[in-house]
Amino acid sequence: MHPTLSGDLADFDAILDRAREMAGTYLHELPQRPAAANLPVGLSLRTSLPARGLGAHAALQRFEQDWLPLMSGSPGPRYFGFVVGGATPAALAADWLVSSYDQNAQRNGDTGAAAIEAQAVDLLRQLLHWPQHWTGLCVTGATMANYVGMALARQWYGKQHGRDVAVDGVWGLPPMTVFAGASHSSTSKALSMAGIGHGQLHALPLLPGREALDVAALERALVAHGGAPCTVVASAGTVNTVDFDDLAAIAALKARHPFWLHVDAAFGGIAAASDKYRGLLEGIEVADSVTVDAHKWLNVPYDCALTYTAHLPLQLEVFQNRSAYLPAPLAVEDNYLHLAPENSRRFRALPLWMTLLAYGREGHAELVERNCASAQRLGELLGGDPLFRLVAPVRLNVVCFTLANGDAAGLQRLHKALHEDGTAYLSPSTLDGRPMLRAALCNWRTTDADVEQTYAALKRLATAG
Ligand SMILES: *Cc1c(COP(=O)(O)O)cnc(C)c1O
Repeated sequence: MHPTLSGDLADFDAILDRAREMAGTYLHELPQRPAAANLPVGLSLRTSLPARGLGAHAALQRFEQDWLPLMSGSPGPRYFGFVVGGATPAALAADWLVSSYDQNAQRNGDTGAAAIEAQAVDLLRQLLHWPQHWTGLCVTGATMANYVGMALARQWYGKQHGRDVAVDGVWGLPPMTVFAGASHSSTSKALSMAGIGHGQLHALPLLPGREALDVAALERALVAHGGAPCTVVASAGTVNTVDFDDLAAIAALKARHPFWLHVDAAFGGIAAASDKYRGLLEGIEVADSVTVDAHKWLNVPYDCALTYTAHLPLQLEVFQNRSAYLPAPLAVEDNYLHLAPENSRRFRALPLWMTLLAYGREGHAELVERNCASAQRLGELLGGDPLFRLVAPVRLNVVCFTLANGDAAGLQRLHKALHEDGTAYLSPSTLDGRPMLRAALCNWRTTDADVEQTYAALKRLATAG
């Protein structure tokens, strides 16, 4: 064994202790750390490969010195950019173990990792009150889950034309129309990846002043489509204003029109953990495929999302890995490599399993309700201040606002000033073509005190600018 490796083998415990210490320090300091990193200009993207190797201690030290200051505070309580969750203690501890155990969760056989994934998929189904007959599995993110959904839609569409797309490809089939309202950009990407083409995505009108699909417009579009099979992608939680398409009304259209219904519930789906918000997802049980992220509002570390479907046989057709040395598929948990885009698979279900068991129904309902209440509080503070103006009602856990004077350059300066100040991080976006800032609350550590501190910083910086 190379001396650097054998040295580290002898020193394994001390190396892990050092990593544990670095993690502990970071996690304790998180509320005081800048919410986002500011990268220096001219940051070198090259470093030379050592011949002998530094050994783990020195490599850790190099990271700590050069790179730790550039780590974002994104798992902390005042990172409100995009839709970013943190990591609960149980999920984080499990994630450490995932790397230690380093299981390949592709199938049952020599490990129970795949069976735990089946339990995790079921635990989440229980939390969200989703149907028993859905099967699911973990993928890296909602983009991949949307990709799986589109690949299944494509397979179903082929069948409607008497074709097995998994065998023959899409060649010669008429293009599949995909109707949606305010779909996430990853749907478009998924359509490109799946060979359907994002040019087939038809954005339909939204309800006035909303990001929710106008279902009457969908019905007219389906009628005009003349009974030909197609796909509908519904949103259960839009990233800007957390609006929900009327899933029950869309689902009802399935009785009269042949379409595959995919629901992107990347973070909005988690709202169903609370009885207060469960109604927003009514009708989802009729979906053919569903996307939900674990690394957002569930506060499981990156990366983890789930794809659910009511059409297991189609999934097997699309993703079956045909090989002489792999046994034929049996039960679902023996099948992950025949059902997922990946063959080798990280044991990413363990943090999900651990956090669901650790915090249960009540813990998750409390997290959702607390984040929504804090978003309401931030909305009240900003809405009640003549400096700011809300550009949408606070529907759930996201606050969208702008400067009351409509100064777009001033808003950009405010975003930059807050980033540099580090009290909180918000991401810029646009609504109806107009610039705004949005604060998305998804972190298990966020309280009202954090949004009050954020509001105070915004006021201070907006006044100074
Ligand atoms: C975040 C998000 C996605 C993409 O999710 P990733 O996990 O980043 O791949 C898709 N849809 C919606 C609604 C989202 O919020």
